[in-house]
Amino acid sequence: MHGAAELQAAREQLVKYSARLADDGLAVGAAGNMSVRLGDRVAITPSGVRYDELQPADICVVGLDGAEVEARETPSTELPMHLAVYAATGAAAVVHTHSAEVIALSASCDELPAIHYAITGLGGPVRVAEYTRFGSAGLADAAVKALDGRRAAILQNHGSICYGPTLTRAYDNALLLEWLARVYRLARSYGDPRILTRAELDEVAAEARRRRYGERRQRPGTPSLEAPWLEGGPEPTFPE
Ligand SMILES: [Zn+2]
Repeated sequence: MHGAAELQAAREQLVKYSARLADDGLAVGAAGNMSVRLGDRVAITPSGVRYDELQPADICVVGLDGAEVEARETPSTELPMHLAVYAATGAAAVVHTHSAEVIALSASCDELPAIHYAITGLGGPVRVAEYTRFGSAGLADAAVKALDGRRAAILQNHGSICYGPTLTRAYDNALLLEWLARVYRLARSYGDPRILTRAELDEVAAEARRRRYGERRQRPGTPSLEAPWLEGGPEPTFPE
């Protein structure tokens, strides 16, 4: 059971991270949106409110079926996509961005390949979901399909969708995805880049797990410097 204090904390956290979107280069104006799940309710940013003017009271609260529980503004147009991600995954928070590197990549590539081993934090190479209009049920379906076994997906000619066990982790995944897309673009500017193999990624994931468990035994709560993106999250999987 989640009480009023937790809901208020979620509202404030959503406002705090929304304010960072522009500075972090993840969206412009009122674009992009994010949400937090609290049991059978979802707190989500509203549609069309500028992030520099967003207040905790503007955050909309809906049920898992999308029915409004508490909202003085209109919930984000991407509410169906957020709800679909919660229905299909164990996500506690979802972040949708319109970040430049990811969108540029989506126009030319079907996938963001493993240009750096940090991609194991997202579950492996990131798929590009075929273009579908914003706010549509088709987009929600395509996003969920592209997220299979991953914590991030790219939406063609649109942006990204990332999730995590907390809003901080979901947001960090969005930042990591944008950074990886930038690294990939830079690498391609030099020629045909070397991509990490499946075996190399599996080795990274195994080593990160080993270090994480080792550190927990020795120094509980100490983040692993080698694989900070794996702290506390589900283990990476590499579906075919
Ligand atoms: Zn969008």
